[in-house]
Amino acid sequence: MFYIFTGKFNRNKRLAQITAMFLILIMILTAKLYVLQVYPSEKVQSSYQNHQEENISNINYMILDTNGKDLMTYDKKYVLVIDTKPFSLNNYEETLEDLMALNFIMKSENPEFNYANIMKQSGKVYFNISEDTYNKINNLKNIKGIYTYIKDEIDTKKAWSINNMFSKILDEEHETGSLEGEVYNYLKDNEKPKSEFYLDNRAVYAKQCVSISDNNKNIKLTIDKDIEDKVRKVLDKEEYSYLSNIGISIVETSSGKIRAMVQKDESAANINLGIQQIGYEPGSIYKIITLGAALDMGLININDTFTCNGKICKEVHGKLSVEQAFEKSCNDIFAEVGSKVGYEKLMEYSEAQGLYDRVLNLESGNRNEAKGVKPLKEAGINNISIGQCMNVTPVQMLGAINTIVNNGVYEKPYIVESILDKDDNVIKEFKTDKKKVYSETTSKLIKNSMRQVVIKGTGIKAYIGDLDIGGKTGSATGNEGKTHGWFAGYFNIGEKNYTMVVFTPEIESRKDKEYGELGGGDTAAPIFKDIVKTLNMRE
Ligand SMILES: [Zn+2]
Repeated sequence: MFYIFTGKFNRNKRLAQITAMFLILIMILTAKLYVLQVYPSEKVQSSYQNHQEENISNINYMILDTNGKDLMTYDKKYVLVIDTKPFSLNNYEETLEDLMALNFIMKSENPEFNYANIMKQSGKVYFNISEDTYNKINNLKNIKGIYTYIKDEIDTKKAWSINNMFSKILDEEHETGSLEGEVYNYLKDNEKPKSEFYLDNRAVYAKQCVSISDNNKNIKLTIDKDIEDKVRKVLDKEEYSYLSNIGISIVETSSGKIRAMVQKDESAANINLGIQQIGYEPGSIYKIITLGAALDMGLININDTFTCNGKICKEVHGKLSVEQAFEKSCNDIFAEVGSKVGYEKLMEYSEAQGLYDRVLNLESGNRNEAKGVKPLKEAGINNISIGQCMNVTPVQMLGAINTIVNNGVYEKPYIVESILDKDDNVIKEFKTDKKKVYSETTSKLIKNSMRQVVIKGTGIKAYIGDLDIGGKTGSATGNEGKTHGWFAGYFNIGEKNYTMVVFTPEIESRKDKEYGELGGGDTAAPIFKDIVKTLNMRE
């Protein structure tokens, strides 16, 4: 072997030095090998392990979407392990070239790398390496006592995405009766997936296999990753960069299954669930409930006329039918409609559709879903009828407005579909509560009024010519003079009906002429349109 290097000696001093050092090392290794072979120490022999295992993920269950797709995103960590005992068996004749190559590859990763230091240690020595280094090392097949593996670490940058929230279930204590607590009981005996490595008779770790415990269970959510990915693309558009955050929640109408829960800034506490908040004022999207109660109780007809004198409204709307008042979102007339319903009945209709209570029942650590705040009677029916003096979450409103689309039946939105075993068999299927709230006639009337809102009312920026959509805008008071924008509406993908709530919290008040005073009709409605169009695009 030596002659290979002689020609380069004069040309490259550095290489010569490395080579010389290396040869000394090899001599030491050879000497060591000699000792081991000729006088095999019993201690070394008995402590020899021919099998190693490494955790290859920092989560011991999978979080799947409704179609079985993995919802987590991982950062891949590449690791080199040098197991010093079998590594010391490397020898001059068999593995010199590979050892030199490994030394060269690892020096570019870490200049401090040297075999002498490694040989001073006992047991396994770990090195974090790049993907490139990982691939290069895997081409070296002859070196004794080394192996590499890839470890999946959850990408925690999007800490408040719903799947990242579910990734913490085994790390925290949960309130009894919470959704996390229920899921915890299925997952608590899971073991981390491992890679196993076996030494062959040359002391090379030649065989590797992944082992996942037969008892491991996984969570399947109702989320549809394809829908969420498309929603995210819309939210990331430059044209919405003026909004600090945007919350999108979408429910499949007939089942109550949440198909998407996404927010523009997933590093901020989850706004769709109102986490770390008491909820948000719904403003005029609450008029859907006021109208629903009044129609359902037979207190008004949709064509009845009322007069707006501008007591609450900034402009005087004059004489309008109830449907027109809904299109224009007239506060005066809705205050009057609400006062016919009365506080108790209005609260009954609201609570029957999940307002002022947790919908998903998420309750653990600092991740408590907001319950919202029920308005006090003293707040006045005029305020309550137009969605003021109360707090709700987007997911609460999603469920309530879906009742209209679902012909008057409230389907409590839910997010965990099932628990699966290792082979994807369903161990536990989750169901939801349903409740008849409105008559079919009431639902149809309101659905049609929501259609008129986007054809000629405050929601015109959500209008899409050839698609059947409808909705209601809302603008409400946020913090420090900022405004919350809302748009809640229905749409279809193919034959399926969906309800979506778009929530744009804390809109900075704009002074420029282009935007004027921004509300839900300007901020949330165009996003609704954009998302519906994107979801209906053929690929
Ligand atoms: Zn008015």
